[in-house]
Amino acid sequence: MKNFTELLEQESFSKDDIIRILSSKGEEEQLLMQKAHELRLANIGNKIYLRGLIEISNICSKNCYYCGIRKGNKNVSRYLLSDKEVLKAAQYAYENDFGSLVIQGGELESDAWTGRIENLLREIKKLSNNELGITLSLGEQSEDTFRRWYDAGAHRYLLRFESSDHDLYHKIHPNDALHSYKRRMEAIDLLRKCNYQVGTGVMIGLPWQNVEILAEDLLRMKELDIDMCGMGPYVEHHDTPLYKFKDELIPLEERFSLSLKMIATLRLLIHDINIAGTTAMQTIDPEGREKAFKAGANVVMPNITPTEYKDSYLLYDNKPGTKDEKEDSTQKVIKIIKESGFEPGTGIWGDSPHFKKRSK
Ligand code: SF4
Repeated sequence: MKNFTELLEQESFSKDDIIRILSSKGEEEQLLMQKAHELRLANIGNKIYLRGLIEISNICSKNCYYCGIRKGNKNVSRYLLSDKEVLKAAQYAYENDFGSLVIQGGELESDAWTGRIENLLREIKKLSNNELGITLSLGEQSEDTFRRWYDAGAHRYLLRFESSDHDLYHKIHPNDALHSYKRRMEAIDLLRKCNYQVGTGVMIGLPWQNVEILAEDLLRMKELDIDMCGMGPYVEHHDTPLYKFKDELIPLEERFSLSLKMIATLRLLIHDINIAGTTAMQTIDPEGREKAFKAGANVVMPNITPTEYKDSYLLYDNKPGTKDEKEDSTQKVIKIIKESGFEPGTGIWGDSPHFKKRSK
């Protein structure tokens, strides 16, 4: 059997290789982090791109069993940002040299919603002289809606498949047409067809999950030839159906270290994609995002949603930064990037080099 260093040097990885890598501990885990770091420097440099995150609404038509803002949770105070509030946040991102925005919200499908987002995209492009890049994360939509939003100025879309394992997917979602595994996967294909840079991701440490399933998740990302990824530990929310399995979960520290290994292994599998250091990492470890950068992540999303709404967008318990003003969260993130030895990638879109190569 190859030693661990030789394994990390491979050009391609089987499911068994990935299981071995995800199961690494101690010195081997450190070797993995080093290799992922080397690969990121060689392929995408040392910049961490900033995306100003606007959580446009916590109203959602779905009932995912793990999510704090699921439709069935009556204890959430629902909000929808006004156009003025969204444009003010976009203006802030533009003036503070963010380069890009992410507009994220619960999943809604209607003509009015499609039209409203379309209009906002055009307004954001106008106010920023076409300079702000825009990522959307607004769930599954029809091909027509994806196209209209692309034509209006969005060029990246994040739609996590949460788990590539069909059975696990249906254990963490209601088993009905609204929560169809098939539709989720088809929507990801549609995004590619509509020419978006496509991002996906999973939760790590779910009940019933194991490293075999996580290895399959990574292989599915490779097969989909994704351009971006946002993944992090599953953190339970007390007002969700999945909460009753909390005593069966692996400890938070293990979920955290497994998440770092997932990021690093994905960097081994696809060298030049954009990978986000997610807020969920920071929920478990105050230095979670720094550690994610060192494991190969190169994108961070400071939350620039108006502070009065941040407390209502709680997908999981103990989400950090909900009391921060946007100025605080921006300065904090820039400081963290610099202190971790990286360079803030301000004022540029910071597109996935992987996408650019495929488009040539
Ligand atoms: S995970 Fe997304 S689609 Fe599911 S309930 Fe939460 S916001 Fe809605």
